[in-house]
Amino acid sequence: MPITVVGSIAYDAVKTPFGERERMLGGAAVHFALAASFFEEVRVVGPVGDDFGEPELEVMRARGVDVSDVERVSGGKTFFWRGEYGWDLNSRETLDTQLGVFEGFQPKLSAHSRESEVLFLANIQPDLQSEVRRQVPDARFVALDSMNLWIDIARDQLLEAIASVDCLILNDAELRQLTGKPNLVSAAREILSWGPAGGSNPTEEGSDGARRGPSVIVAKQGEYGAALVTPEGFFALPAYPLETVIDPTGAGDTFAGGFVGYIAAHTHEPLSDELLRRAMAHGTALASFNVEQFGTERIERLTGQEIGARVQELQEITQFSGAPAKLRV
Ligand code: AMP
Repeated sequence: MPITVVGSIAYDAVKTPFGERERMLGGAAVHFALAASFFEEVRVVGPVGDDFGEPELEVMRARGVDVSDVERVSGGKTFFWRGEYGWDLNSRETLDTQLGVFEGFQPKLSAHSRESEVLFLANIQPDLQSEVRRQVPDARFVALDSMNLWIDIARDQLLEAIASVDCLILNDAELRQLTGKPNLVSAAREILSWGPAGGSNPTEEGSDGARRGPSVIVAKQGEYGAALVTPEGFFALPAYPLETVIDPTGAGDTFAGGFVGYIAAHTHEPLSDELLRRAMAHGTALASFNVEQFGTERIERLTGQEIGARVQELQEITQFSGAPAKLRV
């Protein structure tokens, strides 16, 4: 099933202990689209300025991404983000965020983008996420990502957007911040209680009248991997153990691209925990490639064969046999 994504399309300036780039292709929607393009056709919605280059659009086209709903705003400037990482790459400081053409942007999705049955609301202002959600009322699976900035400055709008989706993908610290709960599992359970299984949705009903709200929560944990919480259970995978990480920028969006892309490619199956676990493995594998080089550099030349081999390795390193030990009483 094709996927529509809205989110930042950006130029990033990034400094890590291993080098820096002053102006590279980035943005949550871009990282997501490149990763998801390994599974399904992806349609990107969002604005760019006059300064956005044809070669950057070509990076997406080369992976078969449909960029016809990328709107060029004349006289506008492309979203810009500057960040710097600490020596162990675990801490990141945002030094500058310029919304540029996203300020006042009114999304108008083409009929083609509205038809997608899978929708990803990548990180951007929550109001924009909600507007795009309203324009794709019949989507069968909708996932959303966000960040601390929007929890800080647009919490109510974010809660409204979350109430309209099936799956929430956030960093573990952001899940804690959003719920005010210090424990990750109880934070995830709190959000599940807002959804269809919980019955205490704090905001509105879904635009199609059906009760929505997340029934799948993914907590991204950086170099430690990601955890999945659903009403049925819990699952966690470590990150693929790389010896060299160059630039973590976009790892979360690339994970989401692999995760949602895998689900979109398997919509003929029920959305079981078993399917979600396989999706987690594919998201984890894709994210591990993303961090091997700056920005989109590695994913641009990634092959399906490499992804398959890494998923296989992940499976091997996370298995253990079930023989119970004799325990002393
Ligand atoms: P990640 O490393 O997965 O958290 O995502 C990094 C990407 O998010 C970068 O390519 C940025 O362009 C983009 N980004 C940073 N801040 C924001 C923001 N406030 N809203 C939307 N996208 C952002």
